[in-house]
Amino acid sequence: MSDDTYTIHAIKYAEHARRSPENFVGGDPHDVPMPLDYYVWVVGNAARTVVVDTGFSPAMAARRGRRIVHPVEAGLAAVGITPGAVDDVVITHMHYDHAGNLPLFERARFHLQDREMAFATGRCMCHDLMRHGYAVEDVSLMVHHVFDQRVCFHDGVAELAPGLELHHVGGHTRGLQVVRVKTARGWVVLASDASHFYAHMEQDRAFPVLDSLADMLEGFRTLRRLAASPAHIVPGHDPLVLARYPAAHDDLAGWVARLDLPPTA
Ligand SMILES: [Zn+2]
Ligand SMILES: [Zn+2]
Repeated sequence: MSDDTYTIHAIKYAEHARRSPENFVGGDPHDVPMPLDYYVWVVGNAARTVVVDTGFSPAMAARRGRRIVHPVEAGLAAVGITPGAVDDVVITHMHYDHAGNLPLFERARFHLQDREMAFATGRCMCHDLMRHGYAVEDVSLMVHHVFDQRVCFHDGVAELAPGLELHHVGGHTRGLQVVRVKTARGWVVLASDASHFYAHMEQDRAFPVLDSLADMLEGFRTLRRLAASPAHIVPGHDPLVLARYPAAHDDLAGWVARLDLPPTA
């Protein structure tokens, strides 16, 4: 594999039962179970390994009533990664389910959009509704990492390495970024919370945690523009990801999937 092409692993670490009306602005006429899966992602090739998002810890899961199925460390170990040895971590946004566990990554640089840090440390956090998705421990630890020179700020579009790009989209939070990765099947986009489920981007519907509805809807267009096809966009919380993509190994079925391989369902 050449240096500008990557494998991508989606690693599920937790889940949470929901019904569909809770997942859409305006509710959902079909009141059916629609659980959330929680993932971190690993982008890698012979030259580099980049972890995308860091999940939450068992202590945070207990506080928020979420169920950890495999701790993040176990999932990373399953694909041969020791968090303490990782150099680069992309934080799509600082919500508790994407930016916890920072102490595991003892020496990493954290790649973050300027606007996300401004949002998570500024006046919007005076509002309960805006603050709810953030944990002050995670945000303050990230501020410490700024002073330790371990945060690499980006403004808009950035190329981390050939074939690996960050793109600001906002919408869900002001500084949300998505990750565009060149793979053997073409450009794949890790949407994170730019589209929680396939249904959001496919039906132009919004998840009810929002900074800007307009930016969220524009974000769906950005996802489609950046990806080789709609089948190259990976939503951030959809259990269908593990159903559609091949498992990394037979014994990792339902836990770790390969997103650089074509979906099989
Ligand atoms: Zn979020
Ligand atoms: Zn999320």
